[in-house]
Amino acid sequence: MDNRFDVVIIGGGPAGYVAAIRSAQHGLSTACIDAWQNPGGPPAFGGTCLNAGCIPSKALLESSELYHRARNELGNHGIKIAKVSLDLDAMQQRKSTIVQQLTDGIHSLFEANGVRGLHGHGQLLPNNQVQFTPHGGDTELIEGENIILASGSTPIELPSIPFDGKKIVDSWGALEFDEVPQRLGVIGAGVIGLELGSVWHRLGSSVAIVEALDQFLPMVDGQIAREAQRQFKRQGLDIRLGAMVRGTATDKSGLLLQYDDQQGSHEIAVDKVVVAVGRRPYTDGLLDPLAGVELDDRGFIVVDKACRTSAPNVYAVGDVVRGPMLAHKGSEEGIMVADLIAGDRAEVNYDVVPSVIYTAPEIAWVGKTEEELQAAGVACKTGSFSFAASARAKAMDQAAGLTKILASSETDRILGVHIVGPMAGELIGEAVLAMEFQASTEDLQRTIHGHPTLTEAIHEAALAVDRRAIHAINR
Ligand code: FAD
Ligand code: AMP
Repeated sequence: MDNRFDVVIIGGGPAGYVAAIRSAQHGLSTACIDAWQNPGGPPAFGGTCLNAGCIPSKALLESSELYHRARNELGNHGIKIAKVSLDLDAMQQRKSTIVQQLTDGIHSLFEANGVRGLHGHGQLLPNNQVQFTPHGGDTELIEGENIILASGSTPIELPSIPFDGKKIVDSWGALEFDEVPQRLGVIGAGVIGLELGSVWHRLGSSVAIVEALDQFLPMVDGQIAREAQRQFKRQGLDIRLGAMVRGTATDKSGLLLQYDDQQGSHEIAVDKVVVAVGRRPYTDGLLDPLAGVELDDRGFIVVDKACRTSAPNVYAVGDVVRGPMLAHKGSEEGIMVADLIAGDRAEVNYDVVPSVIYTAPEIAWVGKTEEELQAAGVACKTGSFSFAASARAKAMDQAAGLTKILASSETDRILGVHIVGPMAGELIGEAVLAMEFQASTEDLQRTIHGHPTLTEAIHEAALAVDRRAIHAINR
């Protein structure tokens, strides 16, 4: 093959593959090298997100929520189902089919856009040379006028609780269980721990989520986090805060998860443990020591606002650089870098990156929390609206939660929007757009929202900022 490209990308997850497509759209000759190989399957583009993260987790969250609702909530609608039973094999097969359709889709997009997709390992050498080793093949040298590093992240392992792939698993392992564990321990009540805990809880596991911090979801607005915690407790999710996991032991009842809290030392008998204590940037084997790419003390590739590394014409995007470890953040960085390489102006607005936790109810937010604004001394006004007063949420029988909007007292500009409730992850899109356009709450107040829709909760929360909500008592 011709081994010289305008752009060579190492990593084909949502940061890398999106950068590849955008580069090719600019007419730049582009290669994307990716090492992912699913066990027993062919290599696949899409990285963690498509193969082992966002997509399979959302597939199982959707299926498990439907199962839960069929068993527990459809009766409220007057729908009687004699017996609801679980076919976990079919559920897992559906998930795998979705993953395969989407990863195959990247292949097709690469072909359609003229991206050279290369399955195998890439290592950056000095002077923009890349050593490419195909799976089971011979190493060759590739040269890129520009290089984009997009090698992603990998789960953090607790030294005292090494993964064994069977009883002690990472997030990927927890998406692959072939039977519902009776008792599941989850270490870490972050986004991933809560989502995976919810999947297996809905499918029948007794789930204990053990979290070292005293505060539940510290990155989430306090009022929203408290409401979410209340809802999860009502569902029977056992979330233990201020509980530092120390290790595991085995006795005749099986596996024991050991933790310490203020009261002392405790053990929980479990069948499986999911370790969900965060992810670390993945650069193993990525960089020749002479490549000139600097890492920080936590292992992230150091980049500036435009994602330029310390080496000339070498960029890095996605989970391997600072910022939230989110697929859409990486994709936007990939687009920005491709545009910059093509000579366009581009930037990422890091102030309006949405976050979503796909529990039920969902939690979604963008911008600053009330606590962050208070700490920064920013005078703000707030308006909130409860889904209990939303006609659509009531019709859906999902009326738990609220929408909260924070705006500058001085200018009325929206500074943060926080939602816990039905379809929060979809609703937040309106808030992201409003904030991207630097909207005020008055802009939202004067925007017509369809009736009855969940989006009316955003309208009402905006009105509530000025104590003008229509379907709530303004206090
Ligand atoms: P990755 O997706 O990790 O891709 C990196 C790719 O680079 C991999 O294919 C890897 O094999 C390859 N690679 C690494 N080194 C080399 C090398 N030297 N040579 C060749 N290839 C290499 N984010 C969301 O936004 N929404 C969600 O709902 C969501 N859910 C998640 C659920 C779970 C269970 C997990 C684990 C994560 C979730 N995330 C979610 C996070 C999301 O998956 C990541 O933010 C995203 O995948 C990061 O994209 P990336 O392209 O930077 O890296
Ligand atoms: P996140 O980084 O959002 O994926 O969340 C991971 C969570 O795991 C954080 O809230 C950590 O506080 C928590 N955590 C890390 N180590 C431990 C531990 N040993 N025991 C319990 N929780 C932990």
